[in-house]
Amino acid sequence: MAFYDIVVAGGGLSGITAARLLAENGYKVLVVEQKKHLAGQIYDYKNEAGITIHQYGPHIFHTKIEKVWKFVNKFSDFSNFQHRVLSFANGNFINFPINRDTLNTVFGIHLSNNDVKDFLKKEVDKSTFNNPPKSFRDVIVSQVGQELYSLFFEKYTQKQWNCNPDELSPDLAGRIPVRDNNDSRYFADKYQGIPVNGYTAMINNMIDHENISVLLGVDYHTIKNEIHPKLLVYTGELDKFFDCKYGKLTYRSVKLDFQTLDQEQFQPAPVVNYPNDYDYTRITEFKQLTGEKSPKTTICYEYPSAEGLPFYTMPNEENERLRVRYMQDVKNFENQGTHLFIGRLAEYKYYNMDMAIDSAINRVEQWLKR
Ligand code: UDP
Repeated sequence: MAFYDIVVAGGGLSGITAARLLAENGYKVLVVEQKKHLAGQIYDYKNEAGITIHQYGPHIFHTKIEKVWKFVNKFSDFSNFQHRVLSFANGNFINFPINRDTLNTVFGIHLSNNDVKDFLKKEVDKSTFNNPPKSFRDVIVSQVGQELYSLFFEKYTQKQWNCNPDELSPDLAGRIPVRDNNDSRYFADKYQGIPVNGYTAMINNMIDHENISVLLGVDYHTIKNEIHPKLLVYTGELDKFFDCKYGKLTYRSVKLDFQTLDQEQFQPAPVVNYPNDYDYTRITEFKQLTGEKSPKTTICYEYPSAEGLPFYTMPNEENERLRVRYMQDVKNFENQGTHLFIGRLAEYKYYNMDMAIDSAINRVEQWLKR
């Protein structure tokens, strides 16, 4: 083991980004990954119907960060896929996030772009919420009013997080825009797309470097006492690193139910959200993400769950408070230059893929400057 300068615990997007940058700077890096495959939660593969599926749920790359876009494009070409989502509400498939067309469909009216702000203001004026907002609910209701909140957000959020939306952080609402035009895209970022040969292929290109070695099927926690690298890049759960000494952080998981159907198309959009009906939150139809052709189609139902692999950090105060305590310890480790904690799990932050890469790039660059 002494042969390696650096060990990266976790072979997901954050860990592999760090590994690549460190390798390019001349360090011998060993990536230790518990799963039998690399790429973490962005792992994808072509199934028996010839359709690329995302084993841990749909991932659509989007960023406004030039540096991140340049970085990923070194390892893969990207389609110019622009993600669109419909929400199934009141028996209709309706544009989501809320835009002018959403309002026209829900209320049976004919607003122009110029009318949208006034219309929403009237909806908000009829509603009650804390101002300044204290929760996810407050932010959404302050933007669109109670009626639209109830239709599109309230029950989806209860399903997703298994709690009252009053208990969730206001920051969570920042993920969902409200638009006064007819832009029907889910993300407004300048750069969007799906790697043309998949995320796994992109990750494989990232590790294709003479200074990177990979150990699959090994949990870092089981070998940590036997390895003494110059630097440990840790991308696992934050609390687990510290043996949960301040208490357990909460993670949410998702049970994914994949079905391949004998029909060419299943639904009218790549992703359909189900805020009010059923136990699942959404259905993804993968060929609509990739543009692949097949007489069959593969779809995936998402059932949020407390059990299973950690997919999400829990955006509430209790976990934020606990996070702050752990981060003090993280700082102490990082100040010694022996450790970096990077990624959604290790930083306990609800990162999108681009934010995970951005964090990994910035943190490694800082470490290299030491
Ligand atoms: N959300 C909602 N209704 C929707 C979609 C999202 O209320 O139709 C809320 C929900 O609380 C969700 C959050 O917005 O957890 C963030 O949604 P996003 O689509 O960003 O979730 P992700 O794709 O990360 O699961």
